[in-house]
Amino acid sequence: MKEEAMTDGNLSMEQWQAIMDNDTSYDKKFYYGVQTRGIFCRPSCKSRPPKKENVKIFENPQQALDEDYRPCKRCKPTDKQLPAEEWVDQVATYIDTNFAEHLTLQILADLFHGSPFHLQRTFKQIKSISPTEYIQEIRISKAMEYLTASGFSVMDIALAVGISNMAYFGTLFKQKTGYTPTAYRQLNN
Ligand SMILES: [Zn+2]
Repeated sequence: MKEEAMTDGNLSMEQWQAIMDNDTSYDKKFYYGVQTRGIFCRPSCKSRPPKKENVKIFENPQQALDEDYRPCKRCKPTDKQLPAEEWVDQVATYIDTNFAEHLTLQILADLFHGSPFHLQRTFKQIKSISPTEYIQEIRISKAMEYLTASGFSVMDIALAVGISNMAYFGTLFKQKTGYTPTAYRQLNN
C-alpha cells in the first residue's frame, strides 16, 4: 500500500475535498489540472475523479493554459465571462437594495462565496469601479434623491443611506457632487 503524503504539492485537503464533492462553491476560487490527461477543470466538474497524485492546482485558467493544459470540454473552465458577469451583477443588485446596511468587501465576499480579493478584482474588471466605490455611488445618489424629495434632516438621510459618521457623509457627498448636502438641498428645492 502506498503511503499517502500529507500534502500533494500545492493541493490542500480542502481543495481535494472540493474536487471529490464537485463543490460548485469553489468554482473560480481554483482550477485543477490532471497531469496524466493534460486537461484542467473547475472543482465542480462531474468528470471521473482524478487520482490525487495527478492533480495540479491553478489559481486561474490562464495559469493552466500557460502550462499547456487544455480546458475540459465538459466543465469549460475558460468559459467564465458570463458567470463572472452574472456574479458581479448579483453583488451589484444586492448593494442596490441593501445600501442602508453595513457593507464591506468581506461581508459581500462571504455572502457571494468568493474571496475579497477575487471580488474586488472581478467587480472592477466588469464595472470599472471597486465594490466600495459602487457602494459610495449608490449611497450618494440615494442621498441626493432624499435631499430633494423628503424633508428629513441631513443626519437622518445619512443614516438612511447607511452612513452613520456625519463628517464622513459630508465629505463624501461633497467629493461626489461638488456640494455640501445642505447646499445641494437648497439648490434643488
Ligand atoms: Zn472538467
